[in-house]
Amino acid sequence: MTLMTTRPVTRRNAVVGIAAAAAALARPSISRAQSAARVVVVGGGFGGAACARALKRTNAALQVTLIEPNKIFTACPFSNEVIAGLRGIELQQFGYDRLAAEGIAVIHQAAAKIDAQQRTVAVADGTSFPYNRLVLSPGIDFHFEGLPGYDEAASEKMPHAWKAGAQTLLLRKQLEAMEDGGLVAIAIPANPSRCPPAPYERASLIAHYLKAKKPRSKVLILDAKDNFTQQRLFEQAWKELYGEMIERVALSQGGRVTSVDPSTGTIVTEFGNYSPEVANVIPPQRAGRIAEIAGAADATGWCPIDAVTLESKLAPGIHVIGDACLGGGIPKSASAASAQGKACAAAIVNLLAGRAPESPRLTGVCYNTVAPAYSFSLAGNYQPKGEIYAEVEGGTTSPIDAPRELRAREAADAERWYQTITADSFG
Ligand code: FAD
Repeated sequence: MTLMTTRPVTRRNAVVGIAAAAAALARPSISRAQSAARVVVVGGGFGGAACARALKRTNAALQVTLIEPNKIFTACPFSNEVIAGLRGIELQQFGYDRLAAEGIAVIHQAAAKIDAQQRTVAVADGTSFPYNRLVLSPGIDFHFEGLPGYDEAASEKMPHAWKAGAQTLLLRKQLEAMEDGGLVAIAIPANPSRCPPAPYERASLIAHYLKAKKPRSKVLILDAKDNFTQQRLFEQAWKELYGEMIERVALSQGGRVTSVDPSTGTIVTEFGNYSPEVANVIPPQRAGRIAEIAGAADATGWCPIDAVTLESKLAPGIHVIGDACLGGGIPKSASAASAQGKACAAAIVNLLAGRAPESPRLTGVCYNTVAPAYSFSLAGNYQPKGEIYAEVEGGTTSPIDAPRELRAREAADAERWYQTITADSFG
């Protein structure tokens, strides 16, 4: 499947197809007041880049500024393949030249301060950017207080690899350095977290690497959840492909990690202690810190939004999209961030023109890869229902008993999805 305008296909809990949003974006009549408007977008990942582009493409006269500290964005989708040695990191990396060429002012600094009253964003060097509407798409930060012993320094020994880049390569290096017969532990936090199925995909692909290169080794999943998405499909694939190599300790078996000791490499759970050769510790998460600075995050650390406009319920004039927002039934994914970015652009165009925003319908499918040429998928539809997005009828999932040809076709679809979504944001 490939991405289409009205019913795009995504890899992971994708949320797309915004027919209403597309219709709104296509409208030609834009008032002069709206043309002069300034929209600042903070965060040039999947959500922010898609949103900035959709805004500028709707109305070239709109002053769109994208604030992002990194000159190169490193994408998380398919980074598990990098960890497993199946792919180079360069295929994950994208610049912002195309966005700048479209007339978006790209500022390579971090947003440091937001004054919601004055409607300004200040960056690290003190420069201030006024806005009529602000979009925050800062992704996640880690909730270190939620995992005693773990912090930035600990992540150099026990990498999370939950933001792609140096951490991805560090985990890869540790796996390469490990002796055959070693134990790789993956600590998985409770939801909400970025991309809920990705840790299980990671366990699968690490097992694929170990089976070929270090077959006496094991993967141990220490899980703060009892159940997870597409569990039957994952477990069936593990049995079929990796036998006893992957073991999972669920929440009710004492699998939740309660603390770590990076000096000894120890992981402490409710059941016991583990000293793996490689510790991939994925800590609990919250919205990127700038959302809290803006006053858009609540006590959970995430940002409640209006489902139709994606405007913050706490900070008027500020919209929050992607992983940082509380999207109800929509899982945190690149697909969701991209689709929300486009829906948000449509809502902003309408709001600036004094029109009522339209209610979007978001549709998509997600892929999980457990080995080369072996993927399965989950499709879902989401609509605002009351205060939040809810999954509505029409979702599908890959069959449990399917020929390998279908799994191979879905793996090819997953690759096409990646090409499309990255081209959509950065290409
Ligand atoms: P991001 O894409 O993380 O972008 C946030 C941006 O904000 C960053 O560039 C950051 O530098 C910037 N930023 C942060 N703070 C500031 C600031 N103060 N000022 C300016 N800029 C700032 N999703 C899928 O759909 N399919 C998949 O197959 C998939 N696989 C995944 C595999 C793994 C291992 C992981 C970890 C995630 C995966 N995801 C997948 C999830 C996906 O990567 C995220 O959901 C997605 O990137 C969220 O987009 P975002 O725009 O919210 O945040």
